[in-house]
Amino acid sequence: MSTLRFQAIKETMNRKALKIEEPARRSDIFGTNVFNETVMRQFLTKEAYNNVIEAMRTGKKIDRNVADHISTGMKEWAISKGVTHYTHWFQPLTGATAEKHDSFFEPLGEGLAIEKFGGGQLVQQEPDASSFPSGGIRNTFEARGYTAWDPTSPAFIWGTTLCIPTIFVSYTGEALDNKTPLLRALQAVDHAATDVAKYFDKNVKKVNATLGWEQEYFLIDSALAATRPDITLTGRTLLGHAPAKGQQLDDHYFGSIPSRAIAFMMDLEIECMKLGIPVKTRHNEVAPNQFELAPIFEEANLAVDHNSLIMDVMKKVGERHNLTVLMHEKPFAEINGSGKHNNWSLATDTGTNLLSPGSTPMKNLQFLTFFVNTIKAVYEHEELLRAAIASASNDHRLGANEAPPAILSVFIGSQLTKVLDELEKVTDGKLSPQEKTDLKLNVVGKIPEILLDNTDRNRTSPFAFTGNKWEFRAVGSLANCAGPMTVLNSIVAKQLRSFKKDVDKLIKDKKMKKDEAIFNVLREYIKKSKKIRFEGNNYSEEWEKEAEKRGLSNNKTTPQALKAQVSKSTIKLFEELEVMNKTEIEARHDIELEEYAMRIQIEGRVLGDIARNHIIPTAIKYQNILIRNVRGLKDIYADDFARHAKEQLEIIESISAHIATINSKVNAMIEARKVANKIEDVEKKAFAYCDDVKPFFDEIRYHCDKLELLVDDEIWPLTKYRELLFTR
Ligand code: ADP
Ligand code: MG
Repeated sequence: MSTLRFQAIKETMNRKALKIEEPARRSDIFGTNVFNETVMRQFLTKEAYNNVIEAMRTGKKIDRNVADHISTGMKEWAISKGVTHYTHWFQPLTGATAEKHDSFFEPLGEGLAIEKFGGGQLVQQEPDASSFPSGGIRNTFEARGYTAWDPTSPAFIWGTTLCIPTIFVSYTGEALDNKTPLLRALQAVDHAATDVAKYFDKNVKKVNATLGWEQEYFLIDSALAATRPDITLTGRTLLGHAPAKGQQLDDHYFGSIPSRAIAFMMDLEIECMKLGIPVKTRHNEVAPNQFELAPIFEEANLAVDHNSLIMDVMKKVGERHNLTVLMHEKPFAEINGSGKHNNWSLATDTGTNLLSPGSTPMKNLQFLTFFVNTIKAVYEHEELLRAAIASASNDHRLGANEAPPAILSVFIGSQLTKVLDELEKVTDGKLSPQEKTDLKLNVVGKIPEILLDNTDRNRTSPFAFTGNKWEFRAVGSLANCAGPMTVLNSIVAKQLRSFKKDVDKLIKDKKMKKDEAIFNVLREYIKKSKKIRFEGNNYSEEWEKEAEKRGLSNNKTTPQALKAQVSKSTIKLFEELEVMNKTEIEARHDIELEEYAMRIQIEGRVLGDIARNHIIPTAIKYQNILIRNVRGLKDIYADDFARHAKEQLEIIESISAHIATINSKVNAMIEARKVANKIEDVEKKAFAYCDDVKPFFDEIRYHCDKLELLVDDEIWPLTKYRELLFTR
């Protein structure tokens, strides 16, 4: 074993799990680092408190003088908890989070100083963030972007810094972040869903989208991770032969959690509790060293913030435990990748989950309305929904044999399929009294109150109904949930608007009763959107063929998938809902294409370096050992040596052949990169990286992995899969 590998493994094996002190009750620490309503009551004047609460609930603007009171209260609270700095915390289009810390400290001159934090500093900041991607919206020399406080997501303390969640926009008002369009989409779905919910309950004033994400990740000892340039620079392994034992035995899934991982999780959960993130479940995933973390669902904006925050917190807590957290969608070939299921629903301010089937016919009709409209929304915009989850890293997962395919379809289970089939059969026009009763009894009455335990859950579906919510399963583990949530809520908002129009038209023109009109419209929607429903195995080849026949899209690569982001129908959708204008839409498209090209470029460079600087020299070293051996055999056996050195000579040749292929492929890849780099058009460049550069990865890897099997383990420089995944 090479010295580097040996030392890293030794270090890993010597590590002990950290002792984490559990609070007596976790509820005691919940939200202690959050500027929540309880704290606000304590630190704010009554007027300031009422203002913030109103802003949180209704989106009403906060008065500037009131902002001064709020900032003072916030500062007092933060200082009482040992905080020295504050930052506007935002989510630029890189997908990560950004922060720039400023101190409260302010010198007054003559050796005096105070701690200051005014309303202006709370409400608005210019982070001078001129090097964040803006897709050309913001000319760095002319206008700068600014961050603005988002009172709907509470301020929190991380370490010794007060973090204020903000949006990031240009001076001309264009969104430069992931959060602004999300907030606009949530508002659109609120209005559209409230209007429709009023058919069933006049008291509904607001509808919140809810999100419960499930985050999958790998934990690798940091000493082992540091031995791999590919993990360090790209977050995944670009080569490495599969271990003899991987996940075939399924012995990791839900198994007992290794002690160091448990310590990490406890530590992480305690941090989450303090930050008000209601984490609830933890368990092993399918692959060795793969785990999952899921909180209780929250209002979507807060849930998105909490996911972005937790991804950062996980890395920092990992450092304390000498663990590297890999959130890449596919860190290891032939081992399951990671996703981030987005569980989504709509909830009214009267406490109803609009996607819960309920017990009374009225509730069922309400359920069917939101249920069928979501199916129709996905049907109409499947390509855009696919685009929302596209990334270089998620390309490894979508369509591979463990994650939902690149084809979007909807799974609803056999019970609800029956219900929709029956609804579809109802005759046109006005319903007879008999039909109405039949409908209510036969169809609506058939939906059991609780579908939660439906046994026919289909794990292969990218978008599945799971009892009282939809589960969008194709989202990547590295993704910022804001992207998919912006699209999902927008398409449902648009669909609900059309639904309301269609129903009102029937009531007005055909003098139908409300229920009847709703039934009639839903029936048409069920028929129209049937093609998106699929109950079978999404991983099968037959489905790919069938989906093609149905005219569903199957965009396997990111550049291809992203086209839907800028299609006419997308621009119409977002402009109509005022979620994004054309400039913002196109800027995002450019940024994502650019990011795609850069990621492939980096991977190509790293792979080329490893192949040339690690693999080829090692192979030559081993080949020289064999050559010396053959020479020795010649000394002993003279003319008869060839018989004795047959095997060795074969290996020598085979090594030469692998080296030659690796070398020529790396050269060809570099040439392809040079060509791609010269392309000005971002889309063409992304396609060049996708079609002309990326295909070399697998070819180069194949030969490197073969060498890993041939070359003496003693001198192999890269930590192997079995060591990365099984050293404890
Ligand atoms: P799975 O079988 O997919 O692993 P889990 O029970 O682990 O399911 O996850 C269910 C997730 O769904 C949790 O994160 C939970 O908070 C979330 N969830 C439950 N109800 C809702 C809802 N009404 N809206 C959004 N998310 C929800
Ligand atoms: Mg799930």
